[in-house]
Amino acid sequence: MAKQNFTYKTKQIDGRHAMICMNSNPAESKYAYAAPSDGPCEEWVFCGNDTAKVLCSSCVQRSLSKSPNFEPIEKTYED
Ligand SMILES: [Zn+2]
Repeated sequence: MAKQNFTYKTKQIDGRHAMICMNSNPAESKYAYAAPSDGPCEEWVFCGNDTAKVLCSSCVQRSLSKSPNFEPIEKTYED
């Protein structure tokens, strides 16, 4: 289990577990550089119940374009 102090919001969407993108709180995200330029990200991502943090596909795309050294994170999301 990864250590973490901050807990991201979760909710059920159509009966499936979802978590808000970690860039909803850039201060806690190591991918804050990929957050939307106009403010915190508000994307919800379907994930497992034990997922600690997720990065939405929009932020993943931004991070890929901004960082040549992007490392995939431990996340689970489905389109
Ligand atoms: Zn995002």
